[in-house]
Amino acid sequence: MLKTSTAVALRQHEIPFFAPSIGEAEIEAVVETLRSGWLTTGPKVRQFEEAFGRRVGARHALATSSATAALHLALEAAGVGPGDEVLVPTLTFASTGEVVVHRGAKPVLVDCNPQTLNMDPDDARRKVTRRTKAVMPVHYGGQPCDMDPVLDLARRHGLKVIEDAAHALPARYGDQHIGTIGDVTCFSFYANKTITTGEGGMLTTNDDQIAERVRIMRLHGISKDAWKRFSAEGSWYYEIHGAGYKYNMTDMQAALGIHQLARCDEFWAARQRIAERYDAGLADLAEVVTPWTELNVQHAWHLYVIQLQLDRLRIDRNRFIELLNQAGIGVSVHYLPLHMHPYYRDTFGYRPQDSPNARDAYYRIISLPIYPKLADEQVDFVVETLARIVAENRKVNSIAVCRTGGDGDGRRKPVPNGLDRNDPGLAAAPAAGEVGCARGAEVAEPAASPRMPGLPVRATKRTFDIMMSAAGLLVLSPLFAAVAVLIKLTSRGPVFFLQERVGRGMRPFRIIKFRTMIQGAHKMGRLVTAGKDPRITPLGYFLRRMKIDELPQLINVLKGDMSFVGPRPEVAKFVELYREDFAQLLVVRPGITDLASLKYRHEADILGRSADPERTYVERVLPEKIALSKQYVARASLWLDLKLILATLLRLVY
Ligand SMILES: *Cc1c(COP(=O)(O)O)cnc(C)c1O
Repeated sequence: MLKTSTAVALRQHEIPFFAPSIGEAEIEAVVETLRSGWLTTGPKVRQFEEAFGRRVGARHALATSSATAALHLALEAAGVGPGDEVLVPTLTFASTGEVVVHRGAKPVLVDCNPQTLNMDPDDARRKVTRRTKAVMPVHYGGQPCDMDPVLDLARRHGLKVIEDAAHALPARYGDQHIGTIGDVTCFSFYANKTITTGEGGMLTTNDDQIAERVRIMRLHGISKDAWKRFSAEGSWYYEIHGAGYKYNMTDMQAALGIHQLARCDEFWAARQRIAERYDAGLADLAEVVTPWTELNVQHAWHLYVIQLQLDRLRIDRNRFIELLNQAGIGVSVHYLPLHMHPYYRDTFGYRPQDSPNARDAYYRIISLPIYPKLADEQVDFVVETLARIVAENRKVNSIAVCRTGGDGDGRRKPVPNGLDRNDPGLAAAPAAGEVGCARGAEVAEPAASPRMPGLPVRATKRTFDIMMSAAGLLVLSPLFAAVAVLIKLTSRGPVFFLQERVGRGMRPFRIIKFRTMIQGAHKMGRLVTAGKDPRITPLGYFLRRMKIDELPQLINVLKGDMSFVGPRPEVAKFVELYREDFAQLLVVRPGITDLASLKYRHEADILGRSADPERTYVERVLPEKIALSKQYVARASLWLDLKLILATLLRLVY
């Protein structure tokens, strides 16, 4: 069978997302430490700290059990506590946010720069309040955050700068090593970071007071200095100077770390070479935007994050990842932004649109494998696979290469979806020889694919729509007449209810339904209807339950505003909130039913249980519906349409 032979062929290319580089020297060092009798914090930790401090040029380097622990200690030493606010980039790992919460403070989530994906200093500035105590830039993927404006902001408002450098060894901002810039910097030696001790972290600072506090608090708040001063007591004597933590590193970890640190530059060179190979290999693939690197930095290349040009592809990011996985390539996503996680949403009330750049980036990003053990042939295989997936899933209208080109410095300017709004330079007219770059709604035709051949299928679908809607209207005309009479008899106002919705190519049209509410109801109150709504007439309840109120949409189908199957048309207000997503969806006509409509057919009941139905709809239901509709658009075929129509009719019966 074809399937098995493909699977065998793929197995040869299995490329994990990450594999550590642990040499014999490291293994021997750990064994030697076990023999030495120093299992916990001892001479190896001190040696590792000294070597690390020298490496980055910081006065103090304090080893911890993890970067998370280091960040927590840094906030404690900086005096962050209840009632305070801390600026945290939303595009980060769990640690950066949670430690703020552990201090009883509020993480104020900051949007990212759409190109570097690092924290946007302008957005940080907008979010400063009287309560802001600290700012925690993350050097995303290993590329230093733009620190000058961050330091400026901190100076102006008296904020502590605590850097999450979990990705950023070795990295430089200008001629400064990361580890010497802010008040405190925290590194991670977690298994998949640029050097590892299995678990472990390091805090660096040039501030003696902070160093002293961290030294005490990382081990139960215990100080032995008192013993030095009052030598009358024995070596058993200690004093507790704070409710500290158990955040120390062991000598076994440090033994590993000493050797890993010595190989730091060797590892970095390998990562840099891989990044360059990806850059070169992907340069001509307009659908894949390679990482933007600033000129004045050394990038640690912990991550190599591409951004898909979704408006040029018929598949979404998740499907893209599935296809990479099927080819044996492990990839990841860094990150679902903190503000979109249930905890932050529910606790602090963040909404997806609060950090739109991070939200939009989330749907486009994929982290490719990058680690010293990755061979050139493996990098090439990843590049070839990306090119193949793009070739098989490209929209017909966007074959053209549309880059604004390099600026002669070897960097390519990425043009991610919709990023050109604020940058006229990126929206430049196409150069001679390049075909113009249609984007968003202008790529308004569904594309050809193996499953959904272009024009013939679209023509068939339209013919089907016309014939079936005409037939339906004819057959149902007695019912229409009866309903019309009933509506007129039971309440004042017109038979039909017309409402503007956003249709194909983002063009508005008016959807037609039987009126189920009292006249003028849509002008009062919310846009979504939930559970028992006082605006709905008794007859309206019946019509809604039987879905009869939706039947006049057959007229929309006949007119060509809609199709039987397609994403539900939404009102402009909601489309605005997820504009990029709808621009992708509305390459097809909106429909009466699709995967999303089927799943959410009891939507009104779900919303009826919510305290704020409109918010629940916008934040929970709509993103799910969009995701499902994207699946439909990516996989659309006549066969799927027929199945969905049948499923919809069956669901109507019970
Ligand atoms: C890995 C990581 C951390 C946490 O590091 P640990 O050493 O595992 O605690 C913190 N922040 C970021 C951005 C990370 O990627």
